[in-house]
Amino acid sequence: MNSQDIEQLVRPNIRALCPYSTARDEYQGTLGIFLDANESPYPTGYNRYPDPHQKALKAKIAAIKGIPAESLFLGNGSDEAIDLVFRIFCTPGVDNAVAIEPSYGMYNVAADINDVEMRRIPLGPDFSLPAEALLAASDTHTRLLFLCSPNNPSGNAFPTGELVSLIRRFPGIVVLDEAYADFSGQGSLRTRLPEFPNLVIFQTLSKAYGLAGLRLGMAFASPYIIRLMSMVKYPYNINQSTQELVLKALDRPIDGQVAEIVGQRTRVAAALPAFGFVRRVWPSDANFLLVQVDDADALYAHLLADGIIVRNRSRVSGCAGCLRITIGLTSENDRLLQSLQAYEKGDIHR
Ligand SMILES: *Cc1c(COP(=O)(O)O)cnc(C)c1O
Repeated sequence: MNSQDIEQLVRPNIRALCPYSTARDEYQGTLGIFLDANESPYPTGYNRYPDPHQKALKAKIAAIKGIPAESLFLGNGSDEAIDLVFRIFCTPGVDNAVAIEPSYGMYNVAADINDVEMRRIPLGPDFSLPAEALLAASDTHTRLLFLCSPNNPSGNAFPTGELVSLIRRFPGIVVLDEAYADFSGQGSLRTRLPEFPNLVIFQTLSKAYGLAGLRLGMAFASPYIIRLMSMVKYPYNINQSTQELVLKALDRPIDGQVAEIVGQRTRVAAALPAFGFVRRVWPSDANFLLVQVDDADALYAHLLADGIIVRNRSRVSGCAGCLRITIGLTSENDRLLQSLQAYEKGDIHR
């Protein structure tokens, strides 16, 4: 695909959009008496509007991620970026999107909110990528393809070669959600962005970086797509405190904690098959395990009564009998395994 093909995928009203220009767009300095934005002059620490372009934060994240700042969008969580791609590329009631199933629930919710038909294609055997079925489900009104790797809730990363081949063949925008890439040996496709003008990669600070409460999602894409996202977003989508706190938090390396989570994932995955009620533990490239058990509802209720909250995915298509268990601290994983032992012995909490 070339850049003209990409432009043709953008909704006409967005292509023609004249974005809101903030007071601070007109004057970009930091010195002076600010009488331009109707702010309060009394300092509260937060009386000034935050930088709508998040320049300092973007420079730092771009350096960490090894991509140009022009290829980086920052959103109020990945959730904002998911909503934005629908609003930019899909005309409500006309265009459609394709996604793998099971996957992250927000893709479907954002499609519904934007009145965009979502075509959900089941993963293949062992949660493999159904490339041919995804392409077959696409038509001339298909604008977006949602992929998630490592996938939530199945936990597996799709082979890079299969992802690349699908991105090359798909005649629309491919959204590749890499929320869990830090936990996977397979790494990220973001350094290969220049090869794929139709690729948008999502990452987040909510998982490996431990900053879910600050709400910061990232999108990596061509400068053209990033400009569209920046035009359509709310002007001050990242608040002042988040910009400041994330700048500070990024000085703390995450490698040690990620390695610990991955080590604990190996340990819990190895311990689970010993329980008689565990049917299958799916291999995971993420910070959670998908576990198929004999009676998911009963085990879920037992764990809940024992003060351990997991995610019951047993009613999700493709996940019959499955609980999704996040990897916690070593002591928390200990408690989980103890509680499973009690359940096995019949000391069942109800
Ligand atoms: C947790 C998660 C996210 C993170 O969303 P935020 O809005 O950034 O917190 C994104 N995608 C997937 C698949 C997730 O599981």
